[in-house]
Amino acid sequence: MCQKAIYPGSFDPVTYGHIDLIRRAQEIFSEVLVAVAHNPHKKPLFSVKERVAMLKKAVVDIPGIEIRDFSGLVIDFAKKEKARVLIRGLRMISDFEYEFQMALTNRKLDPHIETIFLMPQESYSYLSSKLLKEAASLGASLSAFVPDFVEKAIKEKMRKE
Ligand code: ADP
Repeated sequence: MCQKAIYPGSFDPVTYGHIDLIRRAQEIFSEVLVAVAHNPHKKPLFSVKERVAMLKKAVVDIPGIEIRDFSGLVIDFAKKEKARVLIRGLRMISDFEYEFQMALTNRKLDPHIETIFLMPQESYSYLSSKLLKEAASLGASLSAFVPDFVEKAIKEKMRKE
């Protein structure tokens, strides 16, 4: 039974790791809604509007992907969207504890919603938006990690800061 799945996250900004997961999810689920969290306490580099716009551009060649923003609890958003499945990514063991806690908390809040974990291609398994931003601030090339337009946007943003 194919279902609608929601892939929630900060996506600050989108990386090849996120895109890899979106492609995998799209092959399994009938609809994939990528949900960009407001998360103001995380002090994102990019506004929600910018993160949504970059995601839209990054997945333009993948059919059937919707990108939207949301605030509040992801399970409330999922209920509103009539989705029962949340997609999350597991890169390394270090992700496991946090993701496990979050999945079980969400299950407690709404037992009807399942979290499904996908693993990226190995070469993206160490990739995180946070590390990328640090590397960019030290002048690293990001071409192996994000599309060109995302690298440009990061560097532009950092110049203005
Ligand atoms: P959050 O702030 O919700 O963790 P992220 O944008 O950092 O938002 O990540 C969203 C989801 O995507 C998380 O489940 C995270 O583990 C997963 N993810 C992030 N980067 C990668 C990657 N390189 N490969 C696979 N999954 C990833």
